[in-house]
Amino acid sequence: MKNLESLIKTYNDFPKKGIAFKDILGIIQDSEAFKELILKMSSNKVIKSSEAIISIEARGFIFGSAISLYSSKPMLVARKPGKLPGELIEENYYLEYGKSSLSIQKESLEKFSSYAIVDDLLATGGTIDCVANLLMRSGKKVCGVVTVVELLKLNGRSRFNFPVESMLSM
Ligand code: AMP
Repeated sequence: MKNLESLIKTYNDFPKKGIAFKDILGIIQDSEAFKELILKMSSNKVIKSSEAIISIEARGFIFGSAISLYSSKPMLVARKPGKLPGELIEENYYLEYGKSSLSIQKESLEKFSSYAIVDDLLATGGTIDCVANLLMRSGKKVCGVVTVVELLKLNGRSRFNFPVESMLSM
């Protein structure tokens, strides 16, 4: 696979001091690398074993929707406050640089029984944990997580008892 790392730029002290922000947007500016990455993510066993994908706002949507197309799996979204209409299931979470909450539309969630979670990056794991909790609270199976990048030193994967498949460890 094309060197993904060379397409990811690090911005130190963004969005606040002490954070080394990994900007993955360079990947989608290289259509060959993006395609290769999406094919690899789409053929991952976590995606294959799930009935549907749930992708996380906002960069998770970029990868989730492309994986949804290639894998022919339906996709749901987990969104930040005030974005989704209808009856929602909501949960708070903490991330490397703040606190927020994520919501899923209850009616959509009820359609499928097992999910693969897709996001751009795994840092502390708080965001993915939030979505996993939402799914489990609703009686759904979490088949695992597929991310583009995993920040190894934060050891986010240690909090999960389901598979974590990252395409690149940094
Ligand atoms: P966490 O909940 O700590 O695993 O953080 C993961 C979420 O926050 C992902 O949706 C990322 O987009 C974003 N994020 C956290 N840390 C970083 C980082 N160092 N660089 C880029 N994005 C990050």
